[in-house]
Amino acid sequence: MPYLVREHLFIGNISDAADILQNGSSEITHMLSVLSSASISFFTEWRSSLTIPSKEIKKVYAGGSGDGGSGSVDDLGDGSRSCLSPTKLLYSLEYAGKDLKLVRMTVPIRDMESENLLDYLDVCFDFIDRRRKEGGVLVHCFAGVSRSAAIITAYLMRTEQLSSEGALESLRQSCDSYNRGEKIDSSKFGADPGLPVEVLSGVEAIPNGGDNRTPAYRCKKCRRVVALQENVVDHIPGEGETAFEWHKRKSGNRFNRSDESECSSIFVEPLRWMTAVEEGALEGKLSCAHCEARLGYFNWSGIQCSCGSWITPAFQLHKSRVDKSTV
Ligand SMILES: [Zn+2]
Ligand SMILES: [Zn+2]
Repeated sequence: MPYLVREHLFIGNISDAADILQNGSSEITHMLSVLSSASISFFTEWRSSLTIPSKEIKKVYAGGSGDGGSGSVDDLGDGSRSCLSPTKLLYSLEYAGKDLKLVRMTVPIRDMESENLLDYLDVCFDFIDRRRKEGGVLVHCFAGVSRSAAIITAYLMRTEQLSSEGALESLRQSCDSYNRGEKIDSSKFGADPGLPVEVLSGVEAIPNGGDNRTPAYRCKKCRRVVALQENVVDHIPGEGETAFEWHKRKSGNRFNRSDESECSSIFVEPLRWMTAVEEGALEGKLSCAHCEARLGYFNWSGIQCSCGSWITPAFQLHKSRVDKSTV
């Protein structure tokens, strides 16, 4: 459920947004989506059963001159302040959801330090301010915390002359589960491949029917198994033929040449040894459950692989921290 932050202003996560797009809402008439992708298909990729209609109103690129500047981008003022390249999408506006009743603005921001949030803030403020007068506005990102909270915090600072601490505190009071995050139901996580077989409830043999050549990734430091090949979430590295080779490559190849690929990491499904994930954090380190060596990082909003592909959500193990072998 989205949280009410101020009159006609809500904050939520992608589930809240999807629910409203699919079923409509009596309170929310406008949506500000802060996602890594501007496309409505992001929702479909995230949950394949969703079909959400949309109709584009306009797209506005950084630099502002794009569509004659009839929209709120005017308010950006002096374009020279922006460090965005002139061809970069600043925001898109569309009718979306049930009966195309909702007006949705998408600002494609990733949770990366290189993204300068300030470039986007003015268009976000303008949208929130205007649309709150017409109905209810939901601001959401993937997890409903870092990016949407940053925008709402900055908005409260500006409109209510609050300090950053004051604005953040006010936001926390509106939705008191903010600090904690919600504990995630780990029963949906993959079984921990590093636990002894008998601990895996209801499973008599090790996964893959005891094939002792099941490729596994082990912590380089203590040799604990941290992932099996079947836990790996494939992605297409870079573009073109590399992608093909990646998919054709047989898993368990003894002479595996994974170090030839551009990817410095593997991405896996969330597994039960990932306690930091279970505790509801939105991003953080992944450490070996045995020796606590740092193995990688997770982020529900996604991580960019060294090959350039984005994986969302991402549970990343650095190849330099794990060894691939057979169980
Ligand atoms: Zn990659
Ligand atoms: Zn270890």
